[in-house]
Amino acid sequence: MNDSLAQIAARLQGYDPRALPVATAQAFIAALVPVVAQAEALPVRDALGRVLAADLISPIDVPAHHNAAMDGYALRGSELLADQPTRLQVIGGALAGRAFDAAVPPGRAVRITTGAVVPEGLDTVVPQEFTVPDADGWVQIPAGAVRRGDHYRRAGEDLARGAPALRAGRLLRPADLGLIASLGVPAVTVRRRLRVAFFSTGDELRSLGEPLDAGCVYDSNRYTVWGMLQRLGVEAIDLGVVRDRPDELAAAFRAAAAAADAVITSGGVSVGEADHTKQVMAALGDVLFWTIAMRPGRPMAIGRIGLPAGAAGSSERPPAILFGLPGNPVAVMVTFYAFVRDALLRMSGATPAPLPLLRAASREPLRKRPGRTEYQRGIVERDGEGRWWVRSTGAQGSGVLRSMSEANGMIVLPHAQGDVAAGDEVEVLPFEGLI
Ligand code: AMP
Ligand code: MG
Repeated sequence: MNDSLAQIAARLQGYDPRALPVATAQAFIAALVPVVAQAEALPVRDALGRVLAADLISPIDVPAHHNAAMDGYALRGSELLADQPTRLQVIGGALAGRAFDAAVPPGRAVRITTGAVVPEGLDTVVPQEFTVPDADGWVQIPAGAVRRGDHYRRAGEDLARGAPALRAGRLLRPADLGLIASLGVPAVTVRRRLRVAFFSTGDELRSLGEPLDAGCVYDSNRYTVWGMLQRLGVEAIDLGVVRDRPDELAAAFRAAAAAADAVITSGGVSVGEADHTKQVMAALGDVLFWTIAMRPGRPMAIGRIGLPAGAAGSSERPPAILFGLPGNPVAVMVTFYAFVRDALLRMSGATPAPLPLLRAASREPLRKRPGRTEYQRGIVERDGEGRWWVRSTGAQGSGVLRSMSEANGMIVLPHAQGDVAAGDEVEVLPFEGLI
């Protein structure tokens, strides 16, 4: 993790900072980012959305006892007759939470409810509905209704005591909270929440509440970035809009690096950009300026922004990772999902799985140039036959934030792909669950 940027680049096949394939950029970033070291113990509910710092070892067998999977009768499977009904005398009942305590002699059965402990010596449960009425206190089981071991759950069959129930790196979801509680575990050790500082750069930007002067635009990136960070569950630190002045930019980068594990900026990284953002980034850190083979979102800065040696916190924490995103509002979101999201998950200690893509037929021809990955905004819908279709939101300019808002997914056209004909299948990254 302490490799220099040049060392990381040297290990990657076909690394060309002026025409960098998306996959190479992703591999570079995965090699660059460190994982937060600190962990804390939290009550189960507070751990939702957090990343487990160590394997969670089950302190008990699950289920804890041999028990019934159905309502019915517990019996010895060896006593079932193969070619005629089996008749057994019922000597009592076992309820969930109330065991049948006596020994069960041969030829006897016990009425049992789902989840109740199966008495010692019995190993099979016949569901109530498979039995036929018999004399009072007896049960009759037709031949072949059950086999030995049916509807009987062995202690520890879901999870043995001492086995890992959840692995380190698990991003905890609602089912995991239930699983942890089912083990009787009241608190878990998770990694510290990642701190991510962000700001927008550009003299033309105005914040909400300010008048919109001639030639200016309202800063929207701090709102999309904030929203995307919230969805990821990281701690988002908003440092506002920073003017295009070297001293103000330097102060902002220093404050961000001191406060956070990662710093996200937007604007000022285009090739030929006249402003000071790139110079200040390069002066304060070890930073590369990439042109990525993608659309939208070509320019991007990546690297480390250091805490000055000896600064408070500099010994416990590696330098902050800088993601210098392009300024265009759509490009910010696309580069966030293409690069930043997985990187922040990795830094949080999680192992990001590839996002599921939907295959859909394109309603219309799409223009696409081979040699770059394109992320076109689309609307996916299912027709009456259950087939998925996608249509473009129209204007794909990287400043058209409305296209992102109207879309419910991104059509991901891979690097080598050329034009798409109407009816061709394409891959779509659905926003549902992501955005
Ligand atoms: P840049 O990458 O700085 O050249 O910016 C590209 C375009 O995105 C310009 O038209 C900017 O005005 C616009 N832009 C940059 N930052 C923002 C922002 N925070 N909110 C809205 N538009 C922005
Ligand atoms: Mg600019």
